[in-house]
Amino acid sequence: MSFTPRPGPDGATRTGARRLPSTGTLDALDRPLRDLRISVTDRCNFRCVYCMPGEVFGRDYAFLERHELLTFEEIERIARAALSQGVRKLRLTGGEPLLRRGIEDLVARLAALRTLDGVKPEIALTTNGSALAVKAEALKAAGVDRVTVSLDSLDDALFQRMNDVGFPVARVLHGIDAAHAAGLPVKLNTVVKRGMNDGEILDLAERFRGTGYVLRFIEYMDVGATNGWSMADVVPSAEIVATIDARFPLDPAEPTAPGETAQRWRYRDGAGEIGVISSVTNAFCGSCNRARLSTEGRLFTCLFASEGHDLRALLRSGADDAALTAALASIWGTRDDRYSEVRSLLTPELRADRSRIEMSYIGG
Ligand code: SAM
Ligand code: SF4
Ligand code: SF4
Repeated sequence: MSFTPRPGPDGATRTGARRLPSTGTLDALDRPLRDLRISVTDRCNFRCVYCMPGEVFGRDYAFLERHELLTFEEIERIARAALSQGVRKLRLTGGEPLLRRGIEDLVARLAALRTLDGVKPEIALTTNGSALAVKAEALKAAGVDRVTVSLDSLDDALFQRMNDVGFPVARVLHGIDAAHAAGLPVKLNTVVKRGMNDGEILDLAERFRGTGYVLRFIEYMDVGATNGWSMADVVPSAEIVATIDARFPLDPAEPTAPGETAQRWRYRDGAGEIGVISSVTNAFCGSCNRARLSTEGRLFTCLFASEGHDLRALLRSGADDAALTAALASIWGTRDDRYSEVRSLLTPELRADRSRIEMSYIGG
């Protein structure tokens, strides 16, 4: 299997691999590749209403078979090739990544890899927190640097309604504390859906001010095709910031890294910071440096892409590391995605026509 270079505007064949020694490969819009998000399972023990609605992902849903998943060795090979193209951060996600058996072994393999600068890649994990209390220490020992835990409400009844499997919020809070006790910095992600948990914003802010946990509010996104997304369900980040600012005054803070998805706001009284991820109302495609690897080995260069590049087929056809690296350089070098920037230009019909992958398949 091979990837065909595309002809450029001048008719010349463009390999796409514009490579700078220190930064790796740039895409067609001059964006480097820095962040690889690896989905290690498409399964989850939650059925969050905005991600895996129970009526769709129910008893009969066809999850991937074991042989369809990338093996740890295959993931390691792809991660190594991605690091050679400029990746510095690997994020394990899913589905629920802690459901993948032996996840610590995968972490240890990834922790032994090196970036272009010769250092260990930063290894992060996004989890619903349900198994963190059990796994936090082993994850830290294997090489995880930080965790992001999804937490949509502190109200137990609402939390259970949102995960739709009756999972109690106290167990997630326990997992968060276990991660902290294991020495893992923790960020918390809250997806805000209008009419569902927008009344929780202040309680969450109050609970985590001054704790060192960074709380980030995410605009509800139109990923996938099963969650019945509508613009009316989106609570714009500006509204979230205004709500918190009215009670606990905030000042804007500088980004900590280029391409950072969250806009940071600092509490004026020194009680730490929050972040808002404005994927819908304030697109950040211009600095988007992320690629996503699905559980079965498809590489997506945009969260809203309808098709991924089948790296599993490439690996299983016997490709060596040089061929894999060349494929990655070609895929990234020709990337021109910027869906969030053009979303508002699409008519509802055109938006509905685009086939989109599910968040639980590709990871957040
Ligand atoms: N199961 C893990 C978890 O929930 O943290 C990891 C996978 S989950 C798909 C990754 C992130 O995507 C979570 O923080 C989740 O809240 C977020 N997410 C899922 N669906 C979303 C949507 N429609 N809009 C915005 N964020 C979403
Ligand atoms: Fe599972 Fe995470 Fe999706 Fe919730 S957001 S259903 S925890 S994958
Ligand atoms: Fe990146 Fe695509 Fe999201 Fe834009 S829409 S920020 S290109 S993932």
